[in-house]
Amino acid sequence: MESLSFQDLGLSAPLLKALEQVGYESPSPIQERSIPVLLAGRDLIGQAQTGTGKTAAFALPCLSKLTLNQVKPQVLVLTPTRELAIQVAEAFRTYAQFLDGFQILPIYGGQDYQPQIRGLKRGAHVVVGTPGRIMDHMEKGTLQLDQLAFLVLDEADEMLRMGFINDVEWILEQTPKNRQTALFSATMPPVIRRIAQNQLNDPAEVTIEVKTATVQTIRQRFVIAPPFQKLEALTRILEHEPFDAMIIFVRTKTATTELSDKLSARGYRAAALNGDIAQNRREKTIEQLKNGVIDVLVATDVAARGLDVGRISHVVNYDIPYDTESYIHRIGRTGRAGQSGDAILFVGPREQSLMRALEKATKKPIDKMNIPTSEDINQQRVQRFKQKISDALNHPDLSGYQALIHDFQVETGVSALDISAALASLLQRDQPLVASEEENAGSFPSDFASNERKAKKGRLEVSQNNVPYRIEVGHVHGVKPGNIVGAIANESGLDSRNIGRIRIHFDYALVDLPADLPKPVLKNLKKTQVLGQALNIRLWESRAPQSESPFREPFIPSDKSKKKARKKEFEIIAKPRHKKRK
Ligand code: AMP
Repeated sequence: MESLSFQDLGLSAPLLKALEQVGYESPSPIQERSIPVLLAGRDLIGQAQTGTGKTAAFALPCLSKLTLNQVKPQVLVLTPTRELAIQVAEAFRTYAQFLDGFQILPIYGGQDYQPQIRGLKRGAHVVVGTPGRIMDHMEKGTLQLDQLAFLVLDEADEMLRMGFINDVEWILEQTPKNRQTALFSATMPPVIRRIAQNQLNDPAEVTIEVKTATVQTIRQRFVIAPPFQKLEALTRILEHEPFDAMIIFVRTKTATTELSDKLSARGYRAAALNGDIAQNRREKTIEQLKNGVIDVLVATDVAARGLDVGRISHVVNYDIPYDTESYIHRIGRTGRAGQSGDAILFVGPREQSLMRALEKATKKPIDKMNIPTSEDINQQRVQRFKQKISDALNHPDLSGYQALIHDFQVETGVSALDISAALASLLQRDQPLVASEEENAGSFPSDFASNERKAKKGRLEVSQNNVPYRIEVGHVHGVKPGNIVGAIANESGLDSRNIGRIRIHFDYALVDLPADLPKPVLKNLKKTQVLGQALNIRLWESRAPQSESPFREPFIPSDKSKKKARKKEFEIIAKPRHKKRK
């Protein structure tokens, strides 16, 4: 799998410099195939999920084509959600960091119109937004697209699912016919195909192949972790999972060094491996992994190509791979020569469809793995400690220490149990054997710990806590469930999975939403319009099961007091009791 470089794709120097800066080593398959097509001016249909690198696949060619001295919208990207709009705008900013004067404006529902109008007046080269709000600005005349040269539909199937497709078609019809268009979608339902046929001009089609391979000897598991919780989740896994050597895959060169530094700081023997590291140093690092000088290697795909080290018991996909081929290649670094191996995949909340593709490709389920809890970690620590004692008892020569302890016991009158406990506390000084939930949570944001607790109680499923709300739009207005989901998701910031059943009646509808929606969200939703109707949302019945609300923290007594008490206990045990003797 010899891949092209970004230079080979014909991108401009400032863009290449930015890619170097963010540490991208080589284009992902969707980028390799889409960028040349888009640079050549052709329309494109790209079938790709989140996680494949699709954003850069359209952002880089768009940026190459901008006329920077003309600050008018030349590129419009339509996304189904405001989160995606923000993410796409951030990606554009990153890639455009060396393009002088570059301006981008994200525009989405749920935000005041005024700042958006001011932003549009100031001018932007690229506008990224959700269809409803973009349409509003076009109708108001605050967004003019007469200079539009490039239009991207990102996650077209999601826009369809969320009921935006009519808005999308309307926008497409209002924009210049000579524009270039790219449509990205994870799936290709017939409506999306029809739009592609009607609105795109002889498009090239790029689909990422699904390679299959059997991975009999490898146990595959996944953990769900959003980006900001990955490091802590990894640390817990490293502490809990028995492993010999581990290879951790990340996407960028910068991430290899950053993560290996962090793991080294936490006491692991870790090293980085990436394409920038000189060949002889790379070979030395692999040698060190082979003979146990290091146990954890943090690598990019390029650097780990063909790596064959029998000790590797675990492969961790810290960043999800772009495609099935690279996943199969990565996990094949373990389970060498018929041995068994473990592969653990970190999946972001939006990357689950890519994971299902990986599951299909390996024809084996990827099982859910829970991130080890404090209890699990404590049990493991106690177990390891006991093992250490057993090992030490097998030491051939303990007689010198026995004499010393005996002397101490005679001098002080302290029991053997107390002396052992004192020695144990000396040994564990840096790492208390039994850490509290708070300590183990470390830098985990509070919602992680509480999610963990909720998960334990089987309450993670937010939809279970939903109650009906009434909205003032119904059959008479021609509303479809998709219109409602789309508007509520974008205006409230709720994930569409939190939006439950929708029952449409003659002139109103009932929609199940979390029981205690925050007040500002409710206020916003009251004003939100669907098909010209203000939703005027309100609780339909006040039978919300309050204690199960996803927004309410279950009462968990603080561990601090327990911790203090335990510490005190330990100090008492560890201190020789001279006074008592007298
Ligand atoms: P996307 O599928 O566009 O959401 O991208 C997923 C992630 O991959 C983002 O965090 C990007 O920053 C990252 N990414 C995209 N292209 C590359 C690349 N060629 N090398 C390394 N990381 C990349």
